[in-house]
Amino acid sequence: MDSNRLKLSAQSLESDFDLLMLAIDASKSGIILTDNQQPDNPIIFCNKAFEQMSGYQRSEIIGRNCRFLQGVDRNQKGRFELREAVEKGEGLVVELRNYRKNGAQFWNELYMSPIYAKDGRVTHFIGVQNDITHRKQLEATLTLEREQLEQRVQERTRHLQESEEYMKSIFETVRESLVVLDHNMVVIAVNQHFFKTFAVGVEDTLGKSFYELGNGQWNIPSLKNMLENVLPTNNPFEDFQVEHEFPHIGRKNMLLNARRIETEGPYKDRILLAIEDETSRLQTEIRKDDFLKIASHELRTPLTSIKGYVQLLDYQLQEKNYDKLQELINKSNSSIQKLNQLIEDLLDVAKLKDGKVGIHKEVFDLDKMITSCIEMVHTGKPSHEIKLEGKKGLKCYGDEGRIEQVFVNLLNNAIKYSPDAKEVRVYISVVSNFIKVTVTDYGVGIKIEDHKRIFERFYRAENIQKIFPGIGIGLYVSEQIIKEHGGTLWVESEENKGSVFSFTVPMGS
Ligand code: ADP
Repeated sequence: MDSNRLKLSAQSLESDFDLLMLAIDASKSGIILTDNQQPDNPIIFCNKAFEQMSGYQRSEIIGRNCRFLQGVDRNQKGRFELREAVEKGEGLVVELRNYRKNGAQFWNELYMSPIYAKDGRVTHFIGVQNDITHRKQLEATLTLEREQLEQRVQERTRHLQESEEYMKSIFETVRESLVVLDHNMVVIAVNQHFFKTFAVGVEDTLGKSFYELGNGQWNIPSLKNMLENVLPTNNPFEDFQVEHEFPHIGRKNMLLNARRIETEGPYKDRILLAIEDETSRLQTEIRKDDFLKIASHELRTPLTSIKGYVQLLDYQLQEKNYDKLQELINKSNSSIQKLNQLIEDLLDVAKLKDGKVGIHKEVFDLDKMITSCIEMVHTGKPSHEIKLEGKKGLKCYGDEGRIEQVFVNLLNNAIKYSPDAKEVRVYISVVSNFIKVTVTDYGVGIKIEDHKRIFERFYRAENIQKIFPGIGIGLYVSEQIIKEHGGTLWVESEENKGSVFSFTVPMGS
């Protein structure tokens, strides 16, 4: 019998023992036996599989503590667990990084069980070991793949969240009303702009049929037809015009564009509808056309007069009628002045639009400016008496020329729009550190709904357009000038009663 093998004294068991040895040697698992009664718990037995697994010969194994398999790789968690179990005389299963004789690393799954003597002492440990390197590699690969997969899922989720936020921010930033409809034309989403434009809330909108919104404004057969074709035929439509009296917001011109949402996911097979409110653009266009007509007419009037006067001058000169000449020259001059003023006003509008109106502020004598303006306007239009009342001796801080322009404009308007009245009143007062100038007339007045709009560029109240000449820029320019001075220009007026225009400008200390 091999001297390294376990020696049992009972001869009768010899054949059974040999069979047992053969069985242990045939095992695929490495098996060792250690003697816990000897110092350092040495290995006293190992089978063939253990020799193969470790690469050591049996003669190199017997007598050593099994820690020799860990080489210098001492600080393994499993080793500490193993030592503790041996000390306590307990069994355990542990995974260890072991090293073969040739230095190659392998993973060892060790089952350690104590063997007890009758008196309860642990005399031996039996260790069964399996090379689990392959399994560990698979586990490591799996863990790595799982981690990579998790990372990819996280990245994808983040990407989706980002693109959702991105889409949402576009949806909310667009200065058009956007509506998402499902295949039944039910509204499933709208942006904030939609709520603002139509002055409606969530409960009036979401989950409702598009055709039932408001007062049925979109229930138009041709629009219905086109909308219902968008999904089945994938045919978008553009620039469908709707002019309608909408609830809350009145008559408006809307422009509709619709297309199928192309993305996959929750919005697939939905319609994105963009609604553009083009009312003010259309109005501006109409106003611009009107303005061009009016402006050319206004420019032509003094020009025609000048042409006439020059012809007359020529004729009178030939006739040597020198008395008439001065009168004709004066008349031509006045028309030239009118023409010049019109052109100046037009240039002001252009400058204001580009933000280039230059204001040069300094302290000036308000009384002097007011009285000279009144005199000048009265000379040109003596039909009305201009009464000056209120505070005197005030100094103003501003651009004298520009404030004069505002005041003259208000005086001219007061006279122009009160052809049947005989007087215009000017009142000067002080409010906090501002001077307030008020011009009152007793003329045609202004409808309440026009009070704001008369300060817009080219806007002229409808009822006066044909009766009074003008191009609708005086108040616009005046308001900008007063704003530049940190003051306010406003109107109080009643139709057929008259108007009160007031402005404030800073007082010069
Ligand atoms: P314009 O007089 O050339 O039309 P303005 O900008 O000075 O241009 O005035 C704009 C509009 O405001 C006028 O067309 C008129 O409808 C209204 N308006 C201005 N001043 C008066 C006033 N004193 N009384 C009545 N309506 C006025």
